[in-house]
Amino acid sequence: MAELATNAPAPPWLRDRVGHIAQQKYDEAVTTAVEACAEDTKGQTCYICHQALHRHTKEGLVRGCACHTTEGFVHVSCLAEQASMLVAEALEKNNLDRKVWDLWHTCGLCKQRYHGEALCALGWACWRTYLWRPEWDRIRGLAMNMLGDGLFKADHHEDALSVYEAQLSMLRRLGGPGSERSILITQGNLANTYQILGRLEEAGHTCRDIYRGCLKLNGEEDESTIRAALNCATSFISLQRFEEAKSLIRKMMPVAQRVLGQENYLTLQMRWNHARTLSRTTAARAFDDIREAVTTLEETEWIMRRVLGGAHPSIARIEEDLRNARAALRAREEAQPSGDA
Ligand SMILES: [Zn+2]
Ligand SMILES: [Zn+2]
Repeated sequence: MAELATNAPAPPWLRDRVGHIAQQKYDEAVTTAVEACAEDTKGQTCYICHQALHRHTKEGLVRGCACHTTEGFVHVSCLAEQASMLVAEALEKNNLDRKVWDLWHTCGLCKQRYHGEALCALGWACWRTYLWRPEWDRIRGLAMNMLGDGLFKADHHEDALSVYEAQLSMLRRLGGPGSERSILITQGNLANTYQILGRLEEAGHTCRDIYRGCLKLNGEEDESTIRAALNCATSFISLQRFEEAKSLIRKMMPVAQRVLGQENYLTLQMRWNHARTLSRTTAARAFDDIREAVTTLEETEWIMRRVLGGAHPSIARIEEDLRNARAALRAREEAQPSGDA
């Protein structure tokens, strides 16, 4: 099957090489972030410039990190100026490392990532700063990640989707060393976004592409491939494509058991989903499948309870599945008293 085409034209703000639209989007995002933080920042000053209103832009303050209640107030412009200056210095000295780049999204005081509208405004600030660089440039790629992440975390999912789709088609077009890994990361972001937007068919296609990509790049026994197989199976389940989910899990569950062990969370999730597909099957062997589902759920629940503790949120959910599977088995036994036992 062909890979999911992401040929949707990129929106103007992603094609804008001069930055007019990005500047406008940035201004809007700062206004939104300042409004969202207004209550919290009343009477405070910026920890970088020590002013309440920014001296040039006249913007108000934001706060979107993990700082103590009396700290961490800042202007998005001050954060952006600081990050772009220090990144430029590091690039000049050819020693840009993660710590310097992280200034774009991490608070200098509490060292936690910004969230919500503040992160989104920083995403626009970052994109506005580097969008003019050539497409193959690493910094431009990082800025695009930053924009997509900021939009996603502030729940602007449609816009985040446009960024991820544009990024994926660009990565495929450019190719080159390391592009396969970047493609898989971008596809992961896309799959999450499709899922949140309720575009389950596209989420399923993307999960399958990720699984195939991991298989090719890392081999069957890599944890990333096992995780991708599990994600792919759960997306098939949400599309009610139980037979496809079942055959994928049948193939990968022994691999997870062998490589990660019986008590690993991924293995347990794999077994749990195996039971979910068995109890939903409509095949002729349904009776055996439902029995196997009950046994699998009983064993998995027992291991989960021991490994994760009874208070783990998964326990209540697996118990509910177990109750349903037992009820289905009883109903089947009553409807077919002679049974095939
Ligand atoms: Zn400031
Ligand atoms: Zn902070």
